[in-house]
Amino acid sequence: MSGPASARRAAPAGGGGARPAAVVLRTVTASWYQDGPEGPLVRLPHTGSARCRAVPGCGQPRAVLFGRDGTLVEEVPHNTDPGRIRPLPSAREALEALRTAGVHAGVVSNQPGIGCGALRLEQLDALHARMEALLGPVAVTAVCPHRPQDDCACRKPEPGLVFAACRVLGVRPSETAVVGGRTADLGAAHRAGATGVLVRSGRLGRSGAPPRTAAHLGAAVRALVGTPAGH
Ligand SMILES: [Zn+2]
Repeated sequence: MSGPASARRAAPAGGGGARPAAVVLRTVTASWYQDGPEGPLVRLPHTGSARCRAVPGCGQPRAVLFGRDGTLVEEVPHNTDPGRIRPLPSAREALEALRTAGVHAGVVSNQPGIGCGALRLEQLDALHARMEALLGPVAVTAVCPHRPQDDCACRKPEPGLVFAACRVLGVRPSETAVVGGRTADLGAAHRAGATGVLVRSGRLGRSGAPPRTAAHLGAAVRALVGTPAGH
């Protein structure tokens, strides 16, 4: 079921126009773009990650998009300090397994602190740079900077972050899996037409379809790409 915001604005990948509109911030490690104030923020690394080797139609996803807080790293409410970024168990191994399998890895994250003025873009970049220093690079990061009341099309469970990441990666949502610890992650996957995998170690939110579940990130990635990842 799609909400009115997704019906209004979201569009699937593959429709051309893959290049984001404007550079919002260029940092040492990455550039952030935003397609206007209503769009998601997209972070592209300066050095590309491994080229995707997954073959369309082989049944294996060509990209796996992860939630950030509570999925890849410990959830620290309102965190602005890169020193408090701590990877969750098997996160590094899960990303490593995707690199080995030639599958794109990305991050899709709601960060309403930006819209509230509690988190600056420079701080957000520092958090993601620290996370990638600990976990290795990801091919794309798509962030919703809006507040819940903004009724945007990208705050999960809306599908806009999945669409934005898929556009950058040049893959279809149907070739993509979204792995997260919340039902909002599953909702975003479902509304985008991607495969959703709920990692049970995460914290559940409201609503959501009956999920495909995994005990931890390693198991989630192993189920998706058939590659040993963690324990
Ligand atoms: Zn948004």
